[in-house]
Amino acid sequence: MRVIILGSGSYSGTPKPLCNCENCVRARKYPQYKRTRFSVFIPEIKALIDPSPDLHYHLEHLNMEVKKVFITHAHFDHIAGLPELQIFKEIKFYSHEYAVNVAKHLQELFLGERDWRYISLEFNRWYDFGFKVYHFPTVHQPIEVAGGFVIEIGKKRIAVTGDTGPEILSDKNAIEVMKGVDLLIAEMTHKQSIPKTHLGVEDAITLAQKVEAKKTVFAHISHSNYTQEKLEELVREHGYIIARDFMYVEI
Ligand SMILES: [Zn+2]
Ligand SMILES: [Zn+2]
Ligand SMILES: [Zn+2]
Repeated sequence: MRVIILGSGSYSGTPKPLCNCENCVRARKYPQYKRTRFSVFIPEIKALIDPSPDLHYHLEHLNMEVKKVFITHAHFDHIAGLPELQIFKEIKFYSHEYAVNVAKHLQELFLGERDWRYISLEFNRWYDFGFKVYHFPTVHQPIEVAGGFVIEIGKKRIAVTGDTGPEILSDKNAIEVMKGVDLLIAEMTHKQSIPKTHLGVEDAITLAQKVEAKKTVFAHISHSNYTQEKLEELVREHGYIIARDFMYVEI
């Protein structure tokens, strides 16, 4: 099965306008260092995880139909591209009630009536929709409701942490449900963790070691993090992967 990391960046993307840090300068010069906002596509079930503000650009390159949309949380970098989905007739949205309501509101505000379906997921239980999904909460202030997903398709399991503070390291339930998945897509926003907000490099690696996924990809990387090469060097001994935009991951 193939999973596509459409966007590997965090809220401001790389390059961030007016920023002259090493990552931003390089990304302006060389497109392979550009990071659009975080988003993932699973072709097998035509599922998009997080409609990023760069969704038009993602869809333009992907050129595939979207039928399901999972939303980790309602921060703009994870949901603001939603109106770009207007080209698709039938979509089912899956998230916690809070994000589902924001999604519905964006649809009504920008697109009016639609034949789309919204499925509110309670945290910490499995659902079976032909594929299985489990939504677990994360600590990610200032938003009150944020979470990650474990999605099971046939015999393959994919975990996405969504945005999370380092508190996830002591969340036994989240670690247990992600344990041994075929693919872990974890956030690694900054060099250092910010309590209750985002993971830094060291804590993201510790999380991956606890989860013991068959394959681990780090994404949602800020322009202010280390360079791609430095990050690759830091995870190399563990065999982990640092995402780039439009990276194909085979599981
Ligand atoms: Zn984010
Ligand atoms: Zn920068
Ligand atoms: Zn966020």
